[in-house]
Amino acid sequence: SRRVVIIGAGIVGTNLADELVSRGWNNITVVEQGPLSMPGGSTSHAPGLVFQTNPSKTMTLLAKYTVEKLQSLEKDGQNCFNQVGGLEVATTPERLEELKRKHGYAQSWGIEAHLTSPEECLKKYPLLNKDMVLGGLHIPSDGLALAARATQILIENTRNAGVRYLEHTVVTGIEQADGHVTGVTTNNGSVPADIIVSCAGFWGVEIGAMIGLKVPLLPLGHQYVKTTAVPGLEGRGVNKKINGMNAEFPILRHQDQDLYYREHGEHYGIGYYGHRPMPIVASSLGVTPKHVDEKNMPSRLDFTPEDFEPAWKTTKELLPILRETEIADGFNGIFSFTPDGGSVVGQAPNLDNFWVAEAVWVTHSAGVARAVAETLTEGRSSIDIAECELTRFEEVQLSPEYVSETSQQNFVEIYDIIHPLAPKENQRNLRVSPFHARQQEQGAFFLEVGGWERPHWYEANAELVKTLPAEWQPVDRDAWSSKFYSPIAAAEAWKTRNAVALYDMTTFHRFEVSGLGAVHLLQRLTTSDVSKQPGTITHTLLLNTHGGVLSDIFVSRLEDDLFQVGANTATDLAYLAREARRQDKHTPGQWAQVRDITGSTCCLGLWGPRSRDVIRTISSDDYSNKGLPYMGVKKTSIAGVPVTMFRKSFVGEYGWEIQMTPEYGQRLWDILWQSGKPHGLVAAGRAAFNGLRIEKGIRASGIDMTSEHNPWEAGVTYAIQLDKKADYVGKAALRELSRKTTPRTLRCLTVDDGCSMVLGKEPVFFDGQRAGYITSAAFGYTVRKPVAYAWLPMSVTEGQSVEIEYFGKKIKATVTRDPLHDPQERRLRG
Ligand code: FAD
Repeated sequence: SRRVVIIGAGIVGTNLADELVSRGWNNITVVEQGPLSMPGGSTSHAPGLVFQTNPSKTMTLLAKYTVEKLQSLEKDGQNCFNQVGGLEVATTPERLEELKRKHGYAQSWGIEAHLTSPEECLKKYPLLNKDMVLGGLHIPSDGLALAARATQILIENTRNAGVRYLEHTVVTGIEQADGHVTGVTTNNGSVPADIIVSCAGFWGVEIGAMIGLKVPLLPLGHQYVKTTAVPGLEGRGVNKKINGMNAEFPILRHQDQDLYYREHGEHYGIGYYGHRPMPIVASSLGVTPKHVDEKNMPSRLDFTPEDFEPAWKTTKELLPILRETEIADGFNGIFSFTPDGGSVVGQAPNLDNFWVAEAVWVTHSAGVARAVAETLTEGRSSIDIAECELTRFEEVQLSPEYVSETSQQNFVEIYDIIHPLAPKENQRNLRVSPFHARQQEQGAFFLEVGGWERPHWYEANAELVKTLPAEWQPVDRDAWSSKFYSPIAAAEAWKTRNAVALYDMTTFHRFEVSGLGAVHLLQRLTTSDVSKQPGTITHTLLLNTHGGVLSDIFVSRLEDDLFQVGANTATDLAYLAREARRQDKHTPGQWAQVRDITGSTCCLGLWGPRSRDVIRTISSDDYSNKGLPYMGVKKTSIAGVPVTMFRKSFVGEYGWEIQMTPEYGQRLWDILWQSGKPHGLVAAGRAAFNGLRIEKGIRASGIDMTSEHNPWEAGVTYAIQLDKKADYVGKAALRELSRKTTPRTLRCLTVDDGCSMVLGKEPVFFDGQRAGYITSAAFGYTVRKPVAYAWLPMSVTEGQSVEIEYFGKKIKATVTRDPLHDPQERRLRG
């Protein structure tokens, strides 16, 4: 098989070697700068608490697999996971509510979880101060990973299977030719490679720099202490030879004070995130010594007791028995943080066959390793890992300033209660559209996405709410779903459906694909025939080889060899650019170039039944169905401003996306504004947009559907052409899938009481049994009910009743045929 070099023998690198071996790959070398018996990275001192449940389905499933794997990893009759369970306690009413939400996530992702009363918490954890605890969340399958031991067993097992390990060997360079890797340079010579995977943990930045790759992680110090023996626990676990098996109480989290706890036999281990962020540059740590031990390893810095003082005080309150102990040992251990808290996993956009799997917790380690191994051997991961994709960041998010500040913020907020829409506090106003000044004048409320400022509603429309017809009046919401929301959105939605509204679409990704090989490239990667006449737009899909949905994109043919792609993520760009590079530059008809034009263009959505009236007075061009039919595109001008008009809509109304270069942006806004005012034009934001999108049944890639889903299940069959002449990625798999029945499908739900909101990721119950989970949800202004999409078994059909759990309460909803708005597309097509 292909020659693989893995850099780093921590919990991630060794798991990866094992996952590759188990898939039949046998030419693997692991290069480790430290001694194999204790390499000295984060794994060497990780206390190994595994709390699996996370708002992210991906992270939860990666953790779930890690638990299973560690349980199956045995030596001397003992595996590598002590399943003591996990207990998170609430000491504030807000945390109690958060635990209810978390209980919902656990159910959504298939983890057994129980909300527990203060009495039950005490029963499970007698050391707790009963006066402090308001309740808890107990997860029986959580526990302690014996990470260092697992690493040693994995080294032994994989070595027996033929994996080579080079210890005390420092990778100092990456060798490459023709855009792909050929080997690694080390202090002991070169090691040839067809594939390199950097599992270098917090040294990832340095390894990335060897190929000019910015790896967005920041090493930070994090305090961990062990106490002297706890009275009452003396002798606990002395007969357990294996460290980690000498614990009996559940692992414990006191997130209101940034603390977590585990037992080490008769001692206690305490981890603290409440201290100041302590950023570190890995290269400053020097060479890993020949002899590493518990006290002397590069990932362990000296303890700073003053930073731990508040933690020690709080600990003695929560666990009063610890008042009788002292801190026996403490250190500031180093591990990686990232701008959004996710791992960084994937292939480098600038060098083929160079992969990274970094910023990975022990909790997710085997899951991430399996995902990489599956991707390398089978072309895809069974768990969607888009949220961990190395290429998910925008260029501006890769700057050292951005990575440093946002990763530190993540450290500070690691246990905070964070609303899904909450924006970053710092690193704001990095990217603003040319309409920004006008938006501010209209009182825009901005949230942030990909470094962009994006209006969610406009305070200038507040007065309109009072004038809304009774059936459009906004309904009351609960406190949580009211955050980062305004009832003004109802007025903006009303205007969109009944007059006309202006949406800033600049933040959407736009790429230009050009060259004689552009058609070939796009035909090869997309599910529809995009080789239509110039002037047409095709809504199509990017699939993986297994038929899973990577993204839905809009391909507009502007000229014979010039296309514009409307895409979802920076990962889409990396994928298209890599595939373009793979086409032969030297063969006529093959050469294609992909260029990100998001920042060099801007875009306004002008949508609503009166949008034609707005345009008619300022442009003499023909905007009739004949002049620019639905899904048509043309270059033209509006009041002298050169624009490209795309006849499409995300909100299900007649109108256009009007694209121009930024220097004209403000002028065009003003022109549309003036022309639109007599027709009732307003500026509208993302809050209204979401509601309108959802009732039009438009699926959001990465949220409603991921690479785990095929197009039939996801209800995007309109975008697949099995009879397309050209072969394309995923076509063979689609053929196979078309012959199979699918066990699940994405369903539209409407909330029966017309007012109870959910936000996404909540569990759905059918006949009292957990049946699926919500993907996205919003208030459907036109249908006057909250609307949600949910993955459900095929057997749950239209008209049937389900329940959604929100903060522990059950909300009744009905499975409804979609789209709810304009199913015949009369309004859209005009
Ligand atoms: P590492 O274990 O750091 O392995 C990377 C390896 O790469 C190292 O051995 C290093 O020597 C090698 N390497 C680097 N550069 C080179 C080079 N140029 N050439 C050759 N080799 C190289 N996680 C949890 O899930 N639960 C917890 O409770 C938990 N608690 C923690 C507590 C503390 C105090 C700390 C510091 C971390 C904790 N973590 C926890 C995080 C966890 O330890 C890490 O995320 C995890 O161990 C990272 O594993 P890794 O294999 O990616 O990295």
